[in-house]
Amino acid sequence: MFYQDLAADEFLNRVEEVFKETPLIDGHNDIPWQFRRRVNNDLGQLDLSSDLSLLKNPTQTDIPRLRHGRLGAQFWSVYVPITEYGGTSEHVQQVIEQIDVVYQMTSMYSDTFEMAYTADDIERIHSEGKIASLIGIEGGHAINDSLAVLRRLYQLGARYMTLTHSKSVRWADSATDMARHDGLSQFGERVIREMNRLGMMIDLSHVSVATMYDAIASSEAPVIFSHSSAYQLVPHVRNVPDDILNLVAENKGVVMVTFFPSYVSEETWMYGVNLERERARLVAKVSSVEASRKLERWRKENPAPRPTLYQVADHIDHIRSTVGIDYIGIGGDYDGMSAGPIGLDDVSTYPKLFAELLKRGYSKEDLAKIAGQNILRVMRAVEYKARESNNGPP
Ligand SMILES: [Zn+2]
Repeated sequence: MFYQDLAADEFLNRVEEVFKETPLIDGHNDIPWQFRRRVNNDLGQLDLSSDLSLLKNPTQTDIPRLRHGRLGAQFWSVYVPITEYGGTSEHVQQVIEQIDVVYQMTSMYSDTFEMAYTADDIERIHSEGKIASLIGIEGGHAINDSLAVLRRLYQLGARYMTLTHSKSVRWADSATDMARHDGLSQFGERVIREMNRLGMMIDLSHVSVATMYDAIASSEAPVIFSHSSAYQLVPHVRNVPDDILNLVAENKGVVMVTFFPSYVSEETWMYGVNLERERARLVAKVSSVEASRKLERWRKENPAPRPTLYQVADHIDHIRSTVGIDYIGIGGDYDGMSAGPIGLDDVSTYPKLFAELLKRGYSKEDLAKIAGQNILRVMRAVEYKARESNNGPP
């Protein structure tokens, strides 16, 4: 039995030693979105200090499981949905509300969390036994084409911005939308320069390959992928192709490998494609009520295949063998996916993944790099660039 094998494993003790010295830093967690979706941001209604795996509709994140998973720092995603091209002032309001959720959560559970804004903050908070809370904006629609908004979001604590989510914005193309700018527009390049100047990391998860090229070429600091895996293993547009991996290595950036099932396993991805096909077929044929009833039946008859922890480790192996150990991090996407891979079900499971890497011959030094040292290096380089070029409004 998989779980018991690993629990009895001496490898976990060695992982524990790594996480004591180096904070395990995850690039992307959507629990703020769960607060909005489930309880309209009324934080008292979803008690993170309790075991939320017992809910009828369980979350993948709560404090007992974060502690069990030995997490040292988390970039909480202040995701707000975008349904069509562009960005609006409504998105600006919503993103501020989600930033407020992170601050409320951090102060409600101040025994566990503390806000962090720099690499030094993360290391200090981790050494004091708490989990560092950072803010990542998912999608450039949140700035509604305004560098002024971008600057104030930095001031509110945002330390990375994913340039797009699932739709393109008026200055950058998304991987999952029509190409309108062949990457970044001229204004998009200004956004990159302003992010460099402020010290906000440029996140290329969700953007098109042309945007990846343009952003890496325009940025004077290392870039990140906060939650993406290897395209060579699963050719999903959300993953990172090998030629981009090489550019990320030159740029000294980091790819934070995600656990999102359809990016981890080709079989799971194809399942999603077939599900959408079935939905389109039904919607064209019968009433929408009838269609969703039939689709439910289809899903019962065809359960989604789940990838495994081993497949996530394969993505890490691929990036290591392509560009080396220095450009890999972890970006689980917990509470942004309906179920995690088998063995990586929730935030309590990170140590098992690292134990698997030890079994595959990774050293403790390698583990420390993947867990936190690589992203800390990127943060420090981004902070350095900002200090060096700071000659405008704060
Ligand atoms: Zn995402």
